[in-house]
Amino acid sequence: MCGIVGYTGSNPALARVIEGLRRLEYRGYDSAGIALVGNPGDPLVVAKKAGKLANLENALTSNYEHSTSGIGHTRWATHGGPTDTNAHPHISNDGKLAVIHNGIIENYVELKSDLQKRGHTFSSETDTESVAHLLSDECAKLGNLAEAMRSVCKQLRGSFTLLAIHSDSPQTIIGARRNSPLVVGVGKGENFLASDVSAFISHTKKALELGQDQVVEVTP
Ligand code: GLU
Repeated sequence: MCGIVGYTGSNPALARVIEGLRRLEYRGYDSAGIALVGNPGDPLVVAKKAGKLANLENALTSNYEHSTSGIGHTRWATHGGPTDTNAHPHISNDGKLAVIHNGIIENYVELKSDLQKRGHTFSSETDTESVAHLLSDECAKLGNLAEAMRSVCKQLRGSFTLLAIHSDSPQTIIGARRNSPLVVGVGKGENFLASDVSAFISHTKKALELGQDQVVEVTP
């Protein structure tokens, strides 16, 4: 198990996401990371660290404070050791798209080899990084992150909760799930995504559980 949190609204995303990750600590983890969206088109701000959430918090700078949209992850390593580089989020080569993942992508070896042939550079040993590059290709092709996620999910085998953000659509978070949980927290002018309701219970008690093989697009 690990923890997944997404937030988009009008409040600082950093505080909301870190609070959510802290509330999911009981699930166990070996590393933690966060990606926040700034102005449209700007590169995402990303930090990830092996070890406790406090290590991640110590690595954060003031660059992160004004963002109102972001995703955070606590990892339980299955593919690749618990290192800073293998921690999530994983980022597309242009730095504009970030993905976090809970679960296992069973066909990642085939996907990785195809993506490398198409010129993608990998920086981690995880199964998850293939999803970031594949999503980036599909997004360029389809021009829409939700459509890209639908197309990617059809190409994946295994179990997953996935969240993705793209700096070209700064107030949108896309989620998807198969054999792994994902819940949407419905707030007022702000919405959440998480592995379970405890991540956002102090902000909203209204929650929707995502069905098997569903994709969700969340905006404020
Ligand atoms: N399989 C992924 C990895 O090893 C995700 C692990 C998790 O669920 O935290 O990075």
